[in-house]
Amino acid sequence: MNSRIYFDHSATTPLDPRVLTAMGPFLGGAFGNPSSQHHEGRVAREVVEIARAQVASLIGAEPDEIIFTASGTEADNLALMGAVRASGRPGHIVTSSIEHAAILETCRFLAASGTKVTHLPVDGDGKVGAESLLRALQSNVTLVSIMAANNVVGTLQPIEELAHLTKLHGVLFHSDAVQAAGKIPLDVNRLHVDLLSLSAHKLHGPKGVGALYVRKGTRLSPIVFGGGQERGLRSATENVAGIVGFGAAAEIAREELAKEATRLVQFRERIAHELFRALPQGYLFGHPVHRLPGHLSFGLRGQEREVGRVLAALDAAGVAVSAGSACSAHHSGEPSPVLLAMGYDAERARGLVRVSLGRFNTEQEVDRFLKILRLAVASISNAAAHTGDSALELPAVTFA
Ligand code: PLP
Repeated sequence: MNSRIYFDHSATTPLDPRVLTAMGPFLGGAFGNPSSQHHEGRVAREVVEIARAQVASLIGAEPDEIIFTASGTEADNLALMGAVRASGRPGHIVTSSIEHAAILETCRFLAASGTKVTHLPVDGDGKVGAESLLRALQSNVTLVSIMAANNVVGTLQPIEELAHLTKLHGVLFHSDAVQAAGKIPLDVNRLHVDLLSLSAHKLHGPKGVGALYVRKGTRLSPIVFGGGQERGLRSATENVAGIVGFGAAAEIAREELAKEATRLVQFRERIAHELFRALPQGYLFGHPVHRLPGHLSFGLRGQEREVGRVLAALDAAGVAVSAGSACSAHHSGEPSPVLLAMGYDAERARGLVRVSLGRFNTEQEVDRFLKILRLAVASISNAAAHTGDSALELPAVTFA
């Protein structure tokens, strides 16, 4: 079989066929508006509420603590802007230096209207330390926002510890769990979080639907105004099919999480082991253990500037991996801001390859990937040695 290998699940995931089946009726005949009082409307309302309970159950929340949004990005915007607006003051946000653009750009926007923003440093593994958070909490803070798992290097943050410290200071804690949800166990009560962002398309659900968990009693103002849907926090007619798909995806992820995490860790560790054995110039980015189950990011010492060509060669040979975040600037050869924040120099920070595995990946794909990657790197090294800059040609690979 000569099909493509998709190893870029941190960018997005393929829709699970079971999710598509659940969505089907709401893309067709069942088109009601959940706010309508008639039968069609009541059917739509019922399935939206079932999905709300399914999403809540994935993170140990109550259904009425889930606000559906149009994306993880919007959930992040609502958490930060909503908390600042509700406080009635420009306030102070404490976040990390390696957050997704959905957080960093929202902070930049808020800073332009007077909000103080503190970016906590991370260590070489990409972890936020409790001491720097404690120092930041000495001043008046409106909200702390720290991601549960990083999208570029896969490192997991000690959310339980950081949120606990934050709550001791009476400050709101938000976590962007877009990469973590459905991959590692998350329980909002054990984690002590007040706000938590999710996105369906990262867990084999549809694109264009997200959710914000809002703990009961949390003061939050809307950032979208209109008909008052979603408890007034997110006006707009609900994306019924998308929400139904999100619910189905959340339920499947919850049921299969433990088994799937074990399987993906095995694949990841096998790739890491064989990769670093075959390519001595390879080295790991991110925490070696506290990382997303299916996420491996690595560099190639001395070949940092060739990463773009390695990725293009892999793509041409049928493998989709990426150079970090799907929306990051370092596609264009710029150093990754996440790696710079982790202390890598500009040269190293240019050379990240991100492999992120998902539900439909198989052991055979892992075998084929390792073979193709070795050929791609060898071919680039040879091309560089012989001509300095010749066009890359991958030797033909026979697919099993
Ligand atoms: N937060 C993180 C950590 C992400 O990785 C992403 C997407 O890559 C987002 C937020 C944005 O989610 P969405 O694509 O649903 O807007």
